[in-house]
Amino acid sequence: MRVANLGGRLVLVTDAGAVDVERASEGRFGYNVAAVYECWQEFQGWARAAIDRADAQDYDPAMLQAPSPRPRQVFAVGLNYATHVNEAGFVLPESPVVFTKFPSCIVGPYGDVELPSGNVDWEIELVAVVGTAGYRIARGDAWGHIAGLTVGQDFSERVVQSLGSAPQFSIGKSYPGFGPTGPWLSTPEEFDDLADIELHCQINGRTVQHDRTRALIFPIPVLVEWISDKCRLFPGDLIFTGTPAGTGAGQDPPTYLEPGDEVVSTISGIGAMRNHCVLRQ
Ligand code: ZN
Repeated sequence: MRVANLGGRLVLVTDAGAVDVERASEGRFGYNVAAVYECWQEFQGWARAAIDRADAQDYDPAMLQAPSPRPRQVFAVGLNYATHVNEAGFVLPESPVVFTKFPSCIVGPYGDVELPSGNVDWEIELVAVVGTAGYRIARGDAWGHIAGLTVGQDFSERVVQSLGSAPQFSIGKSYPGFGPTGPWLSTPEEFDDLADIELHCQINGRTVQHDRTRALIFPIPVLVEWISDKCRLFPGDLIFTGTPAGTGAGQDPPTYLEPGDEVVSTISGIGAMRNHCVLRQ
């Protein structure tokens, strides 16, 4: 099942088009996308029963927005693929390296990315969306707290990210538009194997990142256990799970995004995002 934000309205996406949830449920569930995560179990029970007999309409994909548009918390994980740890010049972490992308950077799948001065880099990431709140969740229970998965880009301005003697990742990764997500949320049964999902990032048609989540050092259940041992997780929260090798900083010589570049981020079982780079005025 694919759950999307179409111009600010909650929809189910089927092969026949988009089903408006408020209309199809006769008001049982509202149009508000952020609110659906507060009643996720009830919603998905209704949606699974209703989706086959609901009336689907054609829609304009350009209207798709972030599947979780107002997360209370956005967790992001650094250094979670050994190949990327190597290209970044770090040693393998013994526990997850967690920072935040401030929620104001979260946008939909097809917007322009405004490049500030500095070195803006790409990082395709599988993003988990929390459905059911929890604190101190055991890894064996983790998938029961995840509503589904979406595609994310952890755009990162490397100069700000590395400033000072105790660099703080979060601020250089939180410019407006630096957290595109989408094109929708795919629920867990959309995937053949939740531990082995393919990621693919292209810049101007050239493949720069290509890997599978079986290479994650800390897979999603471990991240949920580790993060929720410290922070309570809330419905709609996002977890960016880390990026594989092939970032711009890892190229020889380093290569960063320029105005006019197009970034296409594809994950199997979900779909693709497309972001066009423009200069920040
Ligand atoms: Zn990242």
